[in-house]
Amino acid sequence: MPLVVQKFGGTSVADADKILAAARKAIRAHREGKQVIVVVSARGHTTDELIGLAKEITERPPAREMDMLLATGEQVSVALMAMAIQALGVPAISFTGAQIGIVTDSFHTKARIRNISTERIQQALDDGQIVIVAGFQGVDEHYNITTLGRGGSDTTAVALAAVLGADACEIYTDVDGVYTTDPRVVAEARKIDRISYDEMLELASLGAGVMHSRSIEFAKKFGVPIHVRSSFADATGTWIVAEEDARVLGASVTGAALAKDEARVTVLGVPDRPGVVHALFRRIGEANIVVDMIVQNVATHGRTEVSFTVAGGDLAETLIVAEHAAREIGAEGVTHDASVAKVSVVGLGMRVHTGVAQAMFEALGAAGVNIQMITTSEIKISVLVDRASGADALRCVHQAFELERPRLDDRRDFAPHRRPPAERSPLAGPDAPPLANGLGGMEDLVVSGVELDEEQARVTLLNVPDRPGYAGKVFRAIAQAGVNVDMIVQNVRSASGDTRLSITVPRADALRAAEAASAAVDDPGHVLVEPNMAKLSVVGIGMRTHTGVATRMFGALAEAGINIALINTSEVRVNVLTDLGPGKAGLAALGRAFDLPTRLAASGSGSRAE
Ligand code: ADP
Ligand code: ASP
Ligand code: MG
Repeated sequence: MPLVVQKFGGTSVADADKILAAARKAIRAHREGKQVIVVVSARGHTTDELIGLAKEITERPPAREMDMLLATGEQVSVALMAMAIQALGVPAISFTGAQIGIVTDSFHTKARIRNISTERIQQALDDGQIVIVAGFQGVDEHYNITTLGRGGSDTTAVALAAVLGADACEIYTDVDGVYTTDPRVVAEARKIDRISYDEMLELASLGAGVMHSRSIEFAKKFGVPIHVRSSFADATGTWIVAEEDARVLGASVTGAALAKDEARVTVLGVPDRPGVVHALFRRIGEANIVVDMIVQNVATHGRTEVSFTVAGGDLAETLIVAEHAAREIGAEGVTHDASVAKVSVVGLGMRVHTGVAQAMFEALGAAGVNIQMITTSEIKISVLVDRASGADALRCVHQAFELERPRLDDRRDFAPHRRPPAERSPLAGPDAPPLANGLGGMEDLVVSGVELDEEQARVTLLNVPDRPGYAGKVFRAIAQAGVNVDMIVQNVRSASGDTRLSITVPRADALRAAEAASAAVDDPGHVLVEPNMAKLSVVGIGMRTHTGVATRMFGALAEAGINIALINTSEVRVNVLTDLGPGKAGLAALGRAFDLPTRLAASGSGSRAE
């Protein structure tokens, strides 16, 4: 019998009428002969109100009690939903996360799912009931109630769809699909028909609040198609599916996102030797803080600067950890900026289309937006800007890529279907092979490979003026020289007033890129070329939210005595640049650390084209 999971977000269950309307959707699917699981969030702004209440009692509510409190919001919703469905004449039963055995780790307020026992749900489904499950919550091995992080009901829904083998997971919300960017910020945003897991994963983790990014990790790992659609209408929404099913012709950029509430932390005067970056990020990883935009400057006089961004809410804790780590590694200090925003463009098309960085930087320059930091991955470019310019920056980037224009769709006949899991589920049976690394748990990371690209060179512009328009000019010149740029990294202005912009390019193009850049800048003496570099990559799913991957990677390189020259991260890869000499030793060290076969990558694989 077909099985569907339907998830209703907070606004979709805000009052009695909306709960009844949601109930009717579930009943309709039931009458169509499907087994139905309904996952619900807390009503309206309940979660925010509960957080506010806790803050009235104490500035720092203990995380365990916070989870005890927040989980009540969803418990109210499941009971009301079950009543609504029963009142409409269909048998239904509600469960909390604990009751159906959603077992998580013990990281309160950001717990990860370890296991879900399916017997009780399956029994109720087989009895013909609609099963209502409280989203966002679970229980740890000591029966403490946990929550999965804000927006986590999406993750409950997709996780249930994954373990129960549902044909699809429907996410009902207050927009009718995934848009090219948040329609509340950019009115011209356009609904996307289909988007790949990787693009959605990036967009979600870069600020597109429509989906909890961890839900997309599940969907990709277990091959679950997701349909994001309106609670208040019946039209088709957006399908989030495998890359093969998502492909739409011609576009370099699929969507853009704004993370408004970001904070930047910079560790100053970091000694430039192996192991230092590892020591820093190990500490941060241990605190379960998700880090983005890691940028390390080219070292001068044996010291460098490492900047990274975290969610604004994690700043206070991050500073405590970073200051501690800075003392430990002999760095000179820690600075931060609490009022920055991150603007990103995402698209699988960036692997083949050139000129994306140039277009983005020129648009920002023309709008007078200063770029403070830049990082890229093969399918995204992110810039850090002053928070006050964030929304304008998003709008101008959206316009520059004409994201409001409909895209050519080459597969009108598309029908979603479940794909075989990317890796076998550990829940598939006692003999099923565990996920890579033998870690086993449902939400543990899946690392699928380690790679070495020996064809890289680095070109660095020193003394980059800290003003709008500069990056656009440089990238125009490099593009005109016909050079494909892979990684782009720019750190914030250093204590000595210096901003540095590094790019990596194929070795054969290094001099051409340097000449083009020199011609475009005011001070051509300040271009540094390092022709013999290598890129080491760890490839997988959900790498950024699993702080452990980068930490393990940096640790393995440190142990092998290999210095890290540059870092860039995405949800599907962590890349580091090293000298060419130790590249092969680095690859072997990573192979051992992740217990995976290694491979020499063709030049440019896993790269953006620019
Ligand atoms: P729910 O309570 O149903 O989970 P959310 O508030 O979490 O709903 O997510 C829906 C909201 O996400 C929308 O109202 C919209 O403002 C916001 N959003 C941000 N980025 C996007 C995007 N790219 N596409 C659609 N909605 C987006
Ligand atoms: N109620 C929780 C929140 O507001 C979970 C969710 O809505 O997904 O974050
Ligand atoms: Mg949500």
